[in-house]
Amino acid sequence: MSPTTISLLPFIHAIKNTIDAHADEIAQLDQAIGDGDHLINLQRGIEALLKNSEALEQLEFSAALSKIGMTLMSAMGGASGSLFGSMFVTMGKTAKDKTLDLTSMVEIFTAGVESIKARGKADIGEKTMLDALIPASTILQQNSVQDAELKTVLENMKKAAIDGMESTKDMLATKGRASFLGERARGHIDAGARTSQLMLCAIADVIIENIN
Ligand code: ADP
Ligand code: MG
Repeated sequence: MSPTTISLLPFIHAIKNTIDAHADEIAQLDQAIGDGDHLINLQRGIEALLKNSEALEQLEFSAALSKIGMTLMSAMGGASGSLFGSMFVTMGKTAKDKTLDLTSMVEIFTAGVESIKARGKADIGEKTMLDALIPASTILQQNSVQDAELKTVLENMKKAAIDGMESTKDMLATKGRASFLGERARGHIDAGARTSQLMLCAIADVIIENIN
C-alpha cells in the first residue's frame, strides 16, 4: 500500500450509511442518558466531510486524516466532536512518513484512541465511546502479528467492539453527561459506544469487501 492510493471516501460513505440506518436508535440512546444531540452532531460532522470530499481526495493519507480531524472539530460540536476531532488529528500526525501496512495502521489507530483517553480524561469501564474503541485497539494490537489473516483480524476487531459496546449497558457512567444520572444510567447502552462500534464495523466491512 502506498500512502497516495488510499481513498477515504468509501469509508466516509459507509459510515454515513450505517449512522443513517441506525439514526432512530442512536437518537434514543442519547435521549435516554444524555441530551439527545449525538446523532445530529455526528451527522453534521459527516456532512462536513462529504462537502470537503474533493479536497480530501487530493491529500495524502496523513494530511487527509488531519483535515478530517480539524473538520470534525469545527463542524460537529458536543463532547464527541472534540474527542473524534482530536483522534483524527493525532492519527494524522502518527501516520506521517509511515509505510502503510497492518502494523502501522494499528499503531495509528491506537494513537488515536490514546488521544481520546487523554482529552476525555477517561478509560475503559466509564460508559463512553472508549468502551468500544479500547477493546478494538487492544485486539488489533494482539492480532497484528506477521502472517495474520486480515479478514480474521478485522472480524475479531468487530466482535471486540460489539462486546465492548454492549458492556456499557450495565455500567455506571463516570464521565460525560450520563455521569450526572447515577444509577439511572444503568440499563442503557452509551450512544458514543454504539456509534463508535457501528463506525468500526463499517470500516472493517469496507476493507473486508476489498481484500483480493
Ligand atoms: P455531548 O455529551 O456534549 O452532548 P455528544 O452527545 O455528541 O456530546 O456525545 C456524547 C458521547 O461522548 C457519550 O455518549 C460518550 O460516549 C462520549 N463522551 C462524553 N464524555 C466523554 C469523555 N470524557 N471521554 C470519552 N468519551 C466521552
Ligand atoms: Mg449529547
